[in-house]
Amino acid sequence: MMRVARITAWIAGTNAYLIVNQANQGLLVDAPPDPEEVGTQVAAMDVALVGIVLTHGHVDHTGGAGKLAAGSGAITYAHPDDDFLTLHPTEQLQMIYGMLPPGSYDVPDHIEHLEHGQRLDLAGVALEVRHTPGHTPGHCCLYWESEGILFAGDQLFAGSIGRFDLPGGDGPTLFRSMREQVMTLDDEVRVLPGHGPETTIGRERSTNPFRHEWSS
Ligand SMILES: [Zn+2]
Ligand SMILES: [Zn+2]
Repeated sequence: MMRVARITAWIAGTNAYLIVNQANQGLLVDAPPDPEEVGTQVAAMDVALVGIVLTHGHVDHTGGAGKLAAGSGAITYAHPDDDFLTLHPTEQLQMIYGMLPPGSYDVPDHIEHLEHGQRLDLAGVALEVRHTPGHTPGHCCLYWESEGILFAGDQLFAGSIGRFDLPGGDGPTLFRSMREQVMTLDDEVRVLPGHGPETTIGRERSTNPFRHEWSS
């Protein structure tokens, strides 16, 4: 039995997801800048972290990766088109908050690059990498086909979508990603987003207020 735990952390209320297999190996999707919060959960579940997959380079999803990777030996994965964000957390914080809020912002020593269409096989979890630019140029959604789960990052939320007014963001690109990489999934697929509650593809297809932007 695979287990998935949602950990909501830091001032942005970012969701990280900890996937744990029978052997108690774990895979983390996103790493908010509050590694203690994640570390507490990892310890409570007695998990050996083997991988950290970043949906995109915004600091609220990446800040904790450096500390968690260093402490566990886990390998960090991210798309190269977001290197300008992933590798520069403090510049992002200055720009968005005009200050450095409390948190951990260590960049991992080494980042393996994700590629569209790649099948990432870690801890018995096979994730299909779907490059979904728009919120950021290197944003990726991760589709766990065997469980019918999409880790959606900041691409799609329950009743909303990711903003595209930050550096590297682009509306038409986000809507194209939605049409070609997200809405091609079945209605039953569970969507686990980077902020807020979970939803399904079917529910967002029929009720999301932005649906006309991608279905036209
Ligand atoms: Zn973001
Ligand atoms: Zn976010």
